[in-house]
Amino acid sequence: MSRLVMKFGGTSVADLERIARVGRLVAAEVAAGHQVAVVVSAMAGQTNQLVAWTDGAGTAAEGLTPSDDDYDVVVASGEQVTAGLLSMTLRHMGIKARSWMGWQVPLLTDDAHGRARIDEIPPANLEAAFAAGEVAVIAGFQGVTRDGRIATLGRGGSDTSAVAIAAAIGGACDIYTDVDGVYTTDPRIEKKARRLAKISYEEMLEMASLGAKVLQTRSVELAMAKKVPLRVLSSFVEPGEAPGQGTIVCDEEEIVEKRIVSGVAYSRDEAKITLFGLPDHPGVSSKIFSRLADANVNVDMIVQSRARATDAANMEFTVGKRDAGRTIEIMRAAQADIGFEDVALNEDVAKVSVIGVGMRSHAGVAKTMFGALAEKGVNIQVISTSEIKISVLIDAAYTELAVRALHAAYGLDQL
Ligand code: ASP
Ligand code: MG
Repeated sequence: MSRLVMKFGGTSVADLERIARVGRLVAAEVAAGHQVAVVVSAMAGQTNQLVAWTDGAGTAAEGLTPSDDDYDVVVASGEQVTAGLLSMTLRHMGIKARSWMGWQVPLLTDDAHGRARIDEIPPANLEAAFAAGEVAVIAGFQGVTRDGRIATLGRGGSDTSAVAIAAAIGGACDIYTDVDGVYTTDPRIEKKARRLAKISYEEMLEMASLGAKVLQTRSVELAMAKKVPLRVLSSFVEPGEAPGQGTIVCDEEEIVEKRIVSGVAYSRDEAKITLFGLPDHPGVSSKIFSRLADANVNVDMIVQSRARATDAANMEFTVGKRDAGRTIEIMRAAQADIGFEDVALNEDVAKVSVIGVGMRSHAGVAKTMFGALAEKGVNIQVISTSEIKISVLIDAAYTELAVRALHAAYGLDQL
């Protein structure tokens, strides 16, 4: 019997009607002979509400430490509701089912509350459920630390719960969401965006980490490492209504039709920090970035430039918007030690990226990108590249324009 993990996001379980439809989708897979585990998110909007309450009570998600275990007690509760409701729904349909909290499965995690990592999922309980012919309905986003406290996996973490469970039980993982797959870019910005029938793990990983919200980055990382067959598909259809739809995330070798660029991603969640008048000698960058690393601030793009006339250098780097205030504080506190003249913050920036494994073997991808942006009068502030992506930081006001221009420049509307 093949095994399947079906994961349903917040919009797919947003009300009882939708939960009933999820029940029908699960029933169809059970009828098809699969052993099924279901992972659910909280109802749409619930987790935001819960996070806001913890903020109000004095624990902001950004500064969480291992002692903030109560944050997780609160924010994990949304998934408890949907797991219970879906299990009930399945039972009413005559399907054997039970709900499972993260600690009952268990998904054993480290103690980094609010962004915990799964260490291990002992499969014995799920094996017993399957042996009893039961559908396991599992609360996503949550696990348990070694000392028995509830821990959550970071926003969007139910995707990671699902992939980790699929890896633990040796099954495939279907991620059901409110779109019918992974698109060449955000269809809300570019109507000509196309659904990709297949995308490689590596490209999906870049897309997710560069701003495409469809999958949590960690879930893709894990699927790639454990070779979990992954599919993204819509829950807004009745069983059997749209056969063959969705996007398969798989190894590069399994994709016959190769493209140079597969997608355009964007993120408005960036902030640019500029340090003016830095001494230009060894050790300065190390001082700056070790301070940020100690404070758990993730730095993304970095550029340094040196004026010809003076000895001083300027440095620009980007961090997530939510870390911007802290970064400025850390830099100000270290100003004398590092020895820069001034620091500035710009939050009106966006990062736009083109992604494609074909870049490895094709020249001219950057030229096309910069040409398309120049033609639209979009100024590039910072550039960063990896083997399979090019990112530019631009004025946030030009995000849509840039996304559309790049989508057209690589012919993504004609796939
Ligand atoms: N409900 C959690 C969140 O919104 C986890 C998830 O949906 O994946 O972040
Ligand atoms: Mg999600």
